Amino acid sequence: MNMENIYKNSDLNKPKSNKLDWLLIQNEMKKKLGSEVYESWLKKIDLIEEFNSYILISVPTRFIRDWITSRYLDQILHIVKSFKKDLIRIEFRIEEKNIDLQNQNNTKILPKKSENISFLKDSFLQYNRVDHNKRFENFVTGSSNKLAYEASLKVTENFSQYNPLYIYGGVGMGKTHLLNSIGFELKQKKKVMFIPAERFMYQFIKSIKANDMVKFKEYFRNTDILLIDDIQFMNGKEAMQEEFFHTFNALLEKGSQIIVSADRPPNKLSRIQERIKSRFSGGLVVDIQKPDLELRKNIIEKKINELNKVYADKIEISSEIKDFISLEISNSIRELVGAINRLISFSRIYNKLPNLAETKIVLKDLLNIGENKVTIDLIQTLVCKFFKISKNEMLSSRRSRYLVRPRQTAIYLTKILTPKSLPEIGREFSNRDHTTIIHSVKTIEKLKENDKDMAENIDKLKNQILYNTKENEV
Ligand code: ADP
Ligand code: MG
Repeated sequence: MNMENIYKNSDLNKPKSNKLDWLLIQNEMKKKLGSEVYESWLKKIDLIEEFNSYILISVPTRFIRDWITSRYLDQILHIVKSFKKDLIRIEFRIEEKNIDLQNQNNTKILPKKSENISFLKDSFLQYNRVDHNKRFENFVTGSSNKLAYEASLKVTENFSQYNPLYIYGGVGMGKTHLLNSIGFELKQKKKVMFIPAERFMYQFIKSIKANDMVKFKEYFRNTDILLIDDIQFMNGKEAMQEEFFHTFNALLEKGSQIIVSADRPPNKLSRIQERIKSRFSGGLVVDIQKPDLELRKNIIEKKINELNKVYADKIEISSEIKDFISLEISNSIRELVGAINRLISFSRIYNKLPNLAETKIVLKDLLNIGENKVTIDLIQTLVCKFFKISKNEMLSSRRSRYLVRPRQTAIYLTKILTPKSLPEIGREFSNRDHTTIIHSVKTIEKLKENDKDMAENIDKLKNQILYNTKENEV
């Protein structure tokens, strides 16, 4: 069987139709809106579906949707239209997700191509750049990542001593950062090739289709340093593994250095040839563990410092908030960094730091709170408790002032914190008409603008509802 046949049914083999390529849009957004804005707010947008005249995208929280809508939607639409002018509208869906493996692993595409990082032709160009923002100098070490850091550093000093070097760890732990650091350090002198495994696969298949295998082989076998990110995504496909194995061996034989990252140890890789796994195990295998509290704190400090260097006006994040973040975001350094980025971006736009309650809302998708835990019943209960009225009173038709405000507040909070429609909300508030619901929401919105106490109370309540934990009880 020839290679053509093997790949006939592969998804990767399908011609790229005229569908929007979300990766390209993301790159444009990053370019046009800046990487800070992109990293903080836009990175998590996913394309769900493309329709004739609009696209449906997902965002992780309501807050982020509103934030994006009010600030960046026009520009995003503009970018989308520049790819396809028929698209005239963007619709959102709020989709809470746990960590999205596929998306976390796309290597960021970066400015300026660098001298020694070779490329075969334009199509390769995108995939082999080193991110200049990820270097050894800004990699903070702690007990969980020290070994991986030191092994990486050694590779740049003493070539081929550990070959291959295999770094593994969970999502957002700094693997790609280390691979970049190695590439960045070595590219001055050596021919460096940096590629996510997915892309390696993609190029491989593309080369077969284009009858370009000779170039493909030359290209990859020509490098001094081969960095392959997220090798777990290179699975199955015998012929490709065969080629990879040969490339791998050829490189090791000529003394090139290979560095591989993965989300698991070599022996746990599924659908990868035994002999490839065993070659991985034959080099140095190091892992990165979850960051401990101390490392998380150090990373927060470093990141704030870094961001403060870029702007003239320094932003001081209170230790209360720093403590909160370092305690709450403990699973991924990526999310920790994302949280800081977002807080700083928020502060810059509002010209003030968010307080703790606001911090929780801004970072909601990074903290472990599920949107669907918020029920109308919970909102009514907490609002009643807060205003010291009974639920019967809230749901009654009485219009005394001391009942109207709490009722409106509960309605308002239901509108902003749940996905319920106006008629649905009306039904839950003793069959009130949807116009009453609109009126309540508008009233509270106005009050919030003009009445500081009211705004604070609403914040407090929002906080209690989102973080319905003991510590927040009244
Ligand atoms: P992985 O590849 O393991 O999923 P990344 O290398 O992409 O993770 O890291 C995620 C984010 O966290 C990046 O912005 C990276 O720069 C940052 N990061 C990870 N580890 C560290 C560290 N030890 N010090 C500073 N920043 C880090
Ligand atoms: Mg990575």
